[in-house]
Amino acid sequence: MSLIVKKFGGSSVANAEKVFNVANIIIEDYKKGNDVVVVVSAQGDTTDDLIEKAREINPDGASKREMDMLLSAGEQISISLLAMAIEKLGYPVTSLLGWQAGFLTDSHYSIARIKRVDSERIKNEISKKHIVIVAGFQGINKYDDITTLGRGGSDTSAVAIAASMKADLCQIYTDVDGVYSADPRKVKGAIKMDEISYDEMLELATLGAQVLNNRSVEMAKKYNVELEVRSSLEPTVRGTIVKEITKMEKTLIKGVAKDNNVASISVVGLQDTPGVAFKIFNKLAQAKINVDIILQSVGRDGTKDITFTVPQSDVKTAVEAVDSLKDSLKFQKVTFDESVTKVSIVGAGMESNPGIASKMFEALFDAGINIHMISTSEIKISVLIDEKYADAAVSCVHDKFID
Ligand code: ASP
Ligand code: MG
Repeated sequence: MSLIVKKFGGSSVANAEKVFNVANIIIEDYKKGNDVVVVVSAQGDTTDDLIEKAREINPDGASKREMDMLLSAGEQISISLLAMAIEKLGYPVTSLLGWQAGFLTDSHYSIARIKRVDSERIKNEISKKHIVIVAGFQGINKYDDITTLGRGGSDTSAVAIAASMKADLCQIYTDVDGVYSADPRKVKGAIKMDEISYDEMLELATLGAQVLNNRSVEMAKKYNVELEVRSSLEPTVRGTIVKEITKMEKTLIKGVAKDNNVASISVVGLQDTPGVAFKIFNKLAQAKINVDIILQSVGRDGTKDITFTVPQSDVKTAVEAVDSLKDSLKFQKVTFDESVTKVSIVGAGMESNPGIASKMFEALFDAGINIHMISTSEIKISVLIDEKYADAAVSCVHDKFID
């Protein structure tokens, strides 16, 4: 007998038929004598629809506290419907909102972090042999106000429960049956991985592979929760296991990902003196902007340019932050480009394999794709290219490494 945490995403519970499908998957495990705790997201596009409703009332943006109050309603619907389906099939079940399940968070509405999960209530229900259905993506802060964890936060809810209750298994169900070497809907020949390490998964999650939310992977790594990504449409198919893998015999490129949510910003005509980069990136750090790839041109005539990438959604704030330094730094101008995409290859052990970067660049060269910026780390190589070549770049790089 094991304690199993299962998480189902919004698409897996989008309508009545799918809710019953999920109910049956849960019951299968329960019938084998396992304790089952389930985390669900809001049905289908519910969260987006709720955001739209808020916009109709206040196009300037409602307060984050009220947004959380609204958005948390999506999961209240899905947990109760799923519990009703399980009830109808004749099994004992209890649905719980985030606060009832003991999710205590900080007070950063809309991006709250989980402080702890007091799982007494869940344990109590389990001891009565109930299946427990918990609302993902939400918790409560010290003022007894509802908070949400950020978009896609239900994965993190599931990992938090698995960590706090020391579950034997944490299964994340989605509409693909595992983690692939590239988006299987776009890249033919994309292959499913049996196993992947937390670090590799983190890179793929942040780089836009979009199977698991990155905060959930960070938390799984921290608390050593083994994850399994599986499909709710093909529940008998083995998924991909995400865990700590220490034995690394050779570099294997695990996957190719693209991230469209990037923009590049150039600060042109800076003085070539000490402290310039510090002042720019310090300003950006104060504005809480994540800077990714950075490139500084070689100084000439006493001036230099610095180009860097930021999430596309932050580009306005970033440009404003840099512009506010114009008088003190006396640079010529700031320009930005949103029509860029980051394409990356991920695999542990890059640093000991000099040939990998050149192989990637060769693939892009053969396809006639120009590289604007490059960055490398122990486990990934990223290039910035024109957005219009994104899919072509993923395909040609994938073909080069994975067959
Ligand atoms: N329903 C929330 C969202 O759409 C949380 C989740 O899906 O994990 O972001
Ligand atoms: Mg872009």
